[in-house]
Amino acid sequence: MTLSDPDQCVSSPPRRPFKARGSFVTRCEGCRLPLLNCLCPYRVKTESKARFWLLTHPLEHNKPTNTGRLIGDILDTTEVFTWYRTAPDIALLDHLDDPRFAPFLVFPDDQPDYAERVVDIDSVKQAKREGRIPVFIILDGTWRQARRIFRKSPYLARLPVLPLHTERLTRYHLRKPASASHLCTAEVAAELLRQSGDTVAAEVLDDYFEVFNDSYAESRRHSKLERPTAAMQRLLERQR
Ligand SMILES: [Zn+2]
Repeated sequence: MTLSDPDQCVSSPPRRPFKARGSFVTRCEGCRLPLLNCLCPYRVKTESKARFWLLTHPLEHNKPTNTGRLIGDILDTTEVFTWYRTAPDIALLDHLDDPRFAPFLVFPDDQPDYAERVVDIDSVKQAKREGRIPVFIILDGTWRQARRIFRKSPYLARLPVLPLHTERLTRYHLRKPASASHLCTAEVAAELLRQSGDTVAAEVLDDYFEVFNDSYAESRRHSKLERPTAAMQRLLERQR
């Protein structure tokens, strides 16, 4: 055997380290998206009369594809609580007792056992007229996780349940929904803002979500968006 056997060289190519999907991507510290299509330039601050409190399942928190965090990016009044079955967040309990707020638990009205708690969007508008701050509580997780949070949180049991009725279909393409009518968290929030009269905030969130969606999908293809999309241009315009 010689040390420079050409056949041996051909049969032993240099080993490449195994790379799990996404693990080698350099992410932006600000938006956690791959640097290639960073979201930060499009982060626009806006205001709304209604607020959001997200009750987030612990498994959902660190997923970069989570869209609940987009709400807080554009609306500073947003608060995020982590849901633990046995230990409710004290700050959330305090908020629920605060008479300044009119909290609504956003959840489908498809089960008969809480039918008497179900209200519609007019109740949100009524709360505004009474000078209270309407708050949309969104259970942020998969549908299974959200149902679990709903069932296993006694402190939510006295809240009015607000189902979101909309013809809108999801545009989210980072995770595959069970049905096109299952909106992701940011889409639900945008629709609630629109229906309750916070039109500008709804438009900003919709555009910001769309930019997130497109930027993320593009990065998965390892390419950079060549030119700003229409939603990007609208957000940049608002920053002027
Ligand atoms: Zn960024």
